[in-house]
Amino acid sequence: MKNTKRECEVLVVGGGSSGIAAAVSASGRGADTLLIEKNSFPGGSAVAGLHRFICGLYINSKQKPKDTLNAGIVREVSSRLQALAPEITITRIGKVYVLPFLTKDLKAVFHSLIYRRSHLKVLYNSRGFLVKTDKNRIKVVSVRSPKGTIDIIPKVVLDCSGEGVIIRLSGAGYRLTPLKQRQLSSYSFRVKGLSTGDDMISIKVPYYLKQAIREKKLPAYLKFTTFFPSDAANEGIFKLSITPTESINSVACAKSDARETHRYLVSALSSFRGSRITEMSSEVLNREGVRVRGEYSLSADDVIKARKFPDGVVKNAWPIELWDQKKGPQYQYLKPGDYYQIPLRCLKAKDIVNLYCAGRCISVSHEALGSTRVMGTCMALGEQAGFAAARYCLEKANL
Ligand SMILES: Cc1cc2nc3c(=O)[nH]c(=O)nc-3n(C[C@H](O)[C@H](O)[C@H](O)COP(=O)(O)OP(=O)(O)OC[C@H]3O[C@@H](n4cnc5c(N)ncnc54)[C@H](O)[C@@H]3O)c2cc1C
Repeated sequence: MKNTKRECEVLVVGGGSSGIAAAVSASGRGADTLLIEKNSFPGGSAVAGLHRFICGLYINSKQKPKDTLNAGIVREVSSRLQALAPEITITRIGKVYVLPFLTKDLKAVFHSLIYRRSHLKVLYNSRGFLVKTDKNRIKVVSVRSPKGTIDIIPKVVLDCSGEGVIIRLSGAGYRLTPLKQRQLSSYSFRVKGLSTGDDMISIKVPYYLKQAIREKKLPAYLKFTTFFPSDAANEGIFKLSITPTESINSVACAKSDARETHRYLVSALSSFRGSRITEMSSEVLNREGVRVRGEYSLSADDVIKARKFPDGVVKNAWPIELWDQKKGPQYQYLKPGDYYQIPLRCLKAKDIVNLYCAGRCISVSHEALGSTRVMGTCMALGEQAGFAAARYCLEKANL
């Protein structure tokens, strides 16, 4: 295998919701940008998790919102998704508004944003695995790619890996909630061949699963599992609730739980007879991972009191949504019609000068993460991190 070197101005690690926006934003401002993604596709958790709604896009009040709370790339993504599926419109679920989408459309929109874009190179199937620092600066990020190892020499790095991979490898300070208090993780799979005409299926599935848990036919941690019929006829998507773990066998265990759950429903519920699992996620999705120690840490109080900041760069109105291991999903809402801001200081690592973060790994408390981690907010954070990184390169060039 070859070992090569490559320089760039901005290195974005991770091509999920935040990383795509970061790469588009940094390259759009003229910075020579490299995006590395360990998977073979863009979209990260949103695609791997078979999500159906973009959350964190709108203000929540009685009136249906006309537009997204943040302008820029999130608004661009929303309008491109709506153009691809005009029948899909902003939808109210409980007290919040979301934008439904189809996985294939999100993939297409993300792909179109980064395809042949000037100043941007994208490397798929490429995983950052080693970081060399000198004093408090990242000098090299080594990447394992299909063509061998590449030593990337960036001016600035954006950690958009969701799991804080670069934060950890660079020795930057971080916070990680202890496993027992961490939010529930999840595992998604798709089922086809359901019989039509069962309008109550999304209510029946949790009911039957609870019964199976009571009878000890399924493990207790699956009790907060959700199921939604998908947009295609006879199809549905499961999100199994999984106890957070750092075990390397987590995907194998989740796959076995998925098969057990499906097998039980085939035997117990007539709508599932003749159905089969057609897609299983390649990873367990963590709601919570490593969060950088930034120049400011956003708190639950900042969220609920709708605090604004002089360096506020992203607006958000999503509630604090915590998936508690014992109680399941718990919500704390902002006042209707209000929003809070996320300051740029939450995106900047405190002790590594050329490291910014976006998406799930910004500097927030365990509770505040319950609000900031949704896709719409992650995209807006990515855009701002990309902007800050491009500005950092320009300022260094002028020194
Ligand atoms: C069960 C569950 C359901 C959810 N439902 C919704 C929902 O309905 N709507 C919503 O808006 N949000 C939802 N969320 C939240 C949302 O999916 C994520 O928090 C958000 O997408 C995170 O975006 P991100 O860019 O920070 O990370 P991710 O989307 O996780 O992207 C990180 C990317 O980095 C890549 N990567 C990781 N390590 C490396 C490495 N070493 N080198 C290179 N690449 C790397 C990964 O492959 C991935 O593509 C849900 C989350 C969970 C867990």
